[in-house]
Amino acid sequence: MQTITTVKQMQDWCIEQKRQGKTIALVPTMGYLHQGHLSLVQDARRACDIVVVSLFVNPIQFGVGEDFEDYPRDLSKDSLLLETEQVDALFAPSIKEMYPTGYNSFVEVLGEISSKLCAQSRPGHFRGVTTVVSKLFHICCPDKAFFGQKDAQQVMIIEKMAAELNFPLEIVRVPIVREADGLALSSRNVYLDEEQRQQALVLSRSLQAARALIESGERKATMVKSRLVEQIESSPGANLVYAEIYDARDLADVEEINSRVLIALAVKFGSTRLIDNLLVEV
Ligand code: AMP
Repeated sequence: MQTITTVKQMQDWCIEQKRQGKTIALVPTMGYLHQGHLSLVQDARRACDIVVVSLFVNPIQFGVGEDFEDYPRDLSKDSLLLETEQVDALFAPSIKEMYPTGYNSFVEVLGEISSKLCAQSRPGHFRGVTTVVSKLFHICCPDKAFFGQKDAQQVMIIEKMAAELNFPLEIVRVPIVREADGLALSSRNVYLDEEQRQQALVLSRSLQAARALIESGERKATMVKSRLVEQIESSPGANLVYAEIYDARDLADVEEINSRVLIALAVKFGSTRLIDNLLVEV
């Protein structure tokens, strides 16, 4: 595996691969890799000739007072994991390399999809994500780019950006990878102490309970939502940020659940903010 740290080298390398007729898969990450990331890498490995993984903790997607400084980092361990997955190139640029002239140009998706859920509690977050992802698309020229359903709103916004700005590539969604007890894998899980780690199970449990309620015939979104809120608010240590049910295509409001819905949660345990979601098809 090559480790590349400059934009120029990465772009030249990818252009050369394309010239040789190879297809490129890109997996953007912020590192501190776990099995969730590796499942994206494994799907990418099966899909294309060349796999590029980017590792960049993108400052412009963090808000003031968020965990940019403290975000867990371990480049040498990540490199070893990616070697094992037979990744061809690791792109690990510095902040200066990615933003040599500061933060002046942005890519932003507007509309309902980028004004609900995490957009409400993290203003500017998605603009930071779409900006860095479009830079990565221009640098790595992927045929396919892989994103986790764990960040459901993020992948929806990126799909919209790629379609509306005519990026010549396919966005591939990869299902959420969970621990055996249901907790969705996240680099931020390392912030949880033992007690919070147990308390955090309320996310997956309440999502499953919501699914069961819908499967038992409940169709009123407000009913399902109030049960979700009740369950989380009565759970020790859990501070609800949001619990919402929206149309899975575009995050439009839903009253009657009669198509595919996204049930999305954000909950804080101490200062650690976790998200989880479930797609339910009726
Ligand atoms: P991050 O490093 O947190 O920015 O995540 C990089 C990519 O991995 C994103 O597309 C995430 O949605 C995806 N990802 C993170 N956690 C999981 C998980 N538990 N299951 C599947 N994909 C994940």
